[in-house]
Amino acid sequence: MNDVLTDVLIAGSGPTGLTLACDLAGRGVGVRVVEARRAPHRESRGKGLDPGSLETFEGLGVAERMTAVGRRETVLRKYFDGAHISDTTVAGGLLIGQWQVEEALRERLAELGVRVEYGAGLEALAQGGGGVRAGLSDGSAIRAHYLAACDGGRSTTRGLLGIPFEGYSRPEQAMVLGDVRAPGLSRDFWHQWFTSDGPGILLCPMPGTDTFQLQAAPEPDDRGEPVAPSVESFQRLFDRHARMPGIRLSDAGWLSLWRVNVRMADRMREGRVFLAGDAAHVHPIAGGLGMNTGIQDATALARTLAAALSGPAGDEDEALDGYEAERLPAAAAVLADTAQRHERVMAAVRTPGRGTEAGLG
Ligand SMILES: Cc1cc2nc3c(=O)[nH]c(=O)nc-3n(C[C@H](O)[C@H](O)[C@H](O)COP(=O)(O)OP(=O)(O)OC[C@H]3O[C@@H](n4cnc5c(N)ncnc54)[C@H](O)[C@@H]3O)c2cc1C
Repeated sequence: MNDVLTDVLIAGSGPTGLTLACDLAGRGVGVRVVEARRAPHRESRGKGLDPGSLETFEGLGVAERMTAVGRRETVLRKYFDGAHISDTTVAGGLLIGQWQVEEALRERLAELGVRVEYGAGLEALAQGGGGVRAGLSDGSAIRAHYLAACDGGRSTTRGLLGIPFEGYSRPEQAMVLGDVRAPGLSRDFWHQWFTSDGPGILLCPMPGTDTFQLQAAPEPDDRGEPVAPSVESFQRLFDRHARMPGIRLSDAGWLSLWRVNVRMADRMREGRVFLAGDAAHVHPIAGGLGMNTGIQDATALARTLAAALSGPAGDEDEALDGYEAERLPAAAAVLADTAQRHERVMAAVRTPGRGTEAGLG
């Protein structure tokens, strides 16, 4: 058992947990990061950093590594019923795979002397005696002054604390996703094929790789049920919407499905435990705000915890309340905003020449 007291224990090494860890470690705060996965992933997932996140990463000394990999400008090529209609250039942020953001943050964290502890999912927690004690899936335990739950939308920590995750989930599968190779398809454009029936298929070239992130409306089976994502199903969807017989999709490295979830925790603090990122709020991906909102949570939480740890004993409570006071209304605003952006995108894709840019700004 490794029952040594650390300043801040972070559960989860996604973009939120790693940003928080880099920020705190850079301020000289003692940090440990535990992660349920056995190893890092290589999934494109959240693929857009906004200018605010880039500024944060500048301050943490990681922006250069990311801009060296990512792409500043993206051209959205819109097709309607198979015909090329228009191109729209989008600039201001950075197109980069989520795994590459995480990799750059992990490298920085290692320079600060902290390594992610894999295969160590948080399974139990108890508060008392001026700290938190977390039980981990590898059988060990860690004691810390504070615990940051950055363990994603299905947060175990949120469940253990019994914090309600209010909102709604649409039952239908809205999208299938994956990372695929598509030799012969131009990598100069984020291809977006739409049809008179609505969403079709999108292939976005991921910088620093030879893969595209594929997003599509699911293929219905004979009973109208969505077909599980696979490279074969992706190919059938591609043939139907893109009508480019020479292009064969292959090497699906990541396959996933996505449903619309619009939910947020009713509080982000329980004693010495704090929720951040998807653990505190989930919402539609239109506009690409999920990872960016988690990064902002992490920045606010780092500031709060550093102030509480360095301030006079007995005065921490006021400083600690500041995090929820700042970030809970921000999460509520993002939920309302992204739900509207999602509706805008779903309406826009039925209009020839329009595409996912309808979800921006
Ligand atoms: C197709 C797609 C496109 C997207 N596009 C964008 C975009 O352009 N911009 C954007 O900002 N966002 C985007 N998002 C959303 C973004 O991916 C998420 O909001 C982001 O991953 C949230 O980061 P997080 O660190 O809070 O959670 P996660 O990334 O989910 O990380 C949580 C981590 O905690 C670990 N974990 C889970 N349980 C435990 C436990 N009990 N103990 C320890 N560790 C645990 C998990 O293994 C994981 O590593 C997109 C998502 C998808 C699917």
